[in-house]
Amino acid sequence: MEILNYINGEWLKPEASSYFEVINPATGQIEAKTPIGSALDVAKAALAAQAALAGWKHTPAQDRIQYLFRLKTLLESNIEQLAETITRECGKTLEEARAEMRRAIENVEVACGIPMMSKGEVIEDIAPGIDELMLRQPVGVCATIAPFNFPGMIPFWYLPYAIALGNTYIMKPSEKVPMTMVLIFRLIDQLGLPKGVINMVHGTKDVVDALLEHPSVRAITFVGSSNTARYIYRKAAEHGKRVQAQGGAKNPVVILPDADMEMATKIIADSAFGCAGQRCLAVSWAVTVGEARNPFLESICDAAATRKVGYGLDEGTQMGPVISRENQQRIEQLIGLGVKNGAGIPVDGRNAKVSGYENGAFVRPTILTDVQPDNPLSTTEIFGPVLSMIHATSVEEAIALANRNSYGNQASIFTSSGAAARKFRNEVEAGNIGINIGVAAPMAQFPFSGWKDSFFGDMHGQGMDAVEFFTQKKVIVERWPRDWARKF
Ligand code: NAD
Repeated sequence: MEILNYINGEWLKPEASSYFEVINPATGQIEAKTPIGSALDVAKAALAAQAALAGWKHTPAQDRIQYLFRLKTLLESNIEQLAETITRECGKTLEEARAEMRRAIENVEVACGIPMMSKGEVIEDIAPGIDELMLRQPVGVCATIAPFNFPGMIPFWYLPYAIALGNTYIMKPSEKVPMTMVLIFRLIDQLGLPKGVINMVHGTKDVVDALLEHPSVRAITFVGSSNTARYIYRKAAEHGKRVQAQGGAKNPVVILPDADMEMATKIIADSAFGCAGQRCLAVSWAVTVGEARNPFLESICDAAATRKVGYGLDEGTQMGPVISRENQQRIEQLIGLGVKNGAGIPVDGRNAKVSGYENGAFVRPTILTDVQPDNPLSTTEIFGPVLSMIHATSVEEAIALANRNSYGNQASIFTSSGAAARKFRNEVEAGNIGINIGVAAPMAQFPFSGWKDSFFGDMHGQGMDAVEFFTQKKVIVERWPRDWARKF
């Protein structure tokens, strides 16, 4: 597939002198080459988006959302091709890829309610003859910088809201997985949108920096690792932009002795090993309390050892590869570091061989035990199919362990005690909480929250938070001369 920019309604060759190879992580074959674009590409996209803004922001919201209704239908009728492309470039199973696209479509559906969600407020007679109004107006040109792990879904936490609210938009996909967005932009191209409303540029740091610095770009949303998120947040703020930056995670799960162990094991295995552990909501650190330890350890080891690993397009595959050979090596080194620092390793997924896919970046599910708080693995994001375990004697101790973490994306508890679950959800420091849920992914009506080092900013993506982020409020206090005359 040729990877081109989409600017002002045209497919354009990026101003690139180098390319990033998009390698199918299961087969090792090159699927595409991402052009590493430049500031010149960003300048063209920003010019197009700025030029489109005046007409688009005055288009009635009711008319703007008609494009989203069409986009929803197109996404639905192309979901198989999109899912297959996600599997080919990102490695997850076809079923996981379909679920990802379903989540993307849900955001389009919610954004179709923007005319209702973005209504302003009026208070009449705040003083005799004086009314006060609050309007929401678009911010201007907005941009999103996306990570590799959900190439189809994450842009939809922002894109449909941004444009339905009258903003124009520039998308920068991850250079590792550009193909899904190219396919989606081929659908966007069929919508008949005014030129320049939605644009796409490809590249890495130079393109990102150009977006952060360009005066026409007024708001930036970012999703990726915490180090990059921190950088984006600082630099965008320095350049006077509205910014939200979602970062990495190290999500704890607490298992109490009264949990339904069969259910807990199945759900926790799906959370820890689904998408090969490359979900920002994957549980990666299990804290067993009291007598939960032995039954949970036994059943999770069994689930890890029997999970069917392979190419996501092959039937029956339960877990695909990680994104690249480099990441495979990084994950294996981290497992080694954990063991060196005293962890046990009852299930070791290193040096995985998958028949027929000898060039794939496979790491099998791995269980590490006794990962004490001073073990670097208790705080390091691994982003692979690795579940680290530790034991606690009480729910209080488990919550304290969970809160030691500098991240705060998600925390889960498995229990049949309402009181314990309530204490957990009140006291644990994370933006998304799962109670007998392994991946507490908020539906599109809710913000995709995140706390501590997992999020830099204020307003989040999705739902009403997206309405807040992609609009600026204007308050008007008004009086009319006739009312004035009547009074005096
Ligand atoms: P990443 O930070 O390496 O890259 C994300 C984006 O930033 C890419 O588009 C990339 O081109 C760009 N980028 C990378 N380095 C940059 C730099 N130095 N300067 C400017 N731009 C740069 O992240 P990734 O490896 O693609 O994604 C995995 C990470 O994303 C994990 O840490 C995961 O937890 C996180 N993530 C978080 C959420 C969330 O909602 N909190 C969701 C998904 C993924």
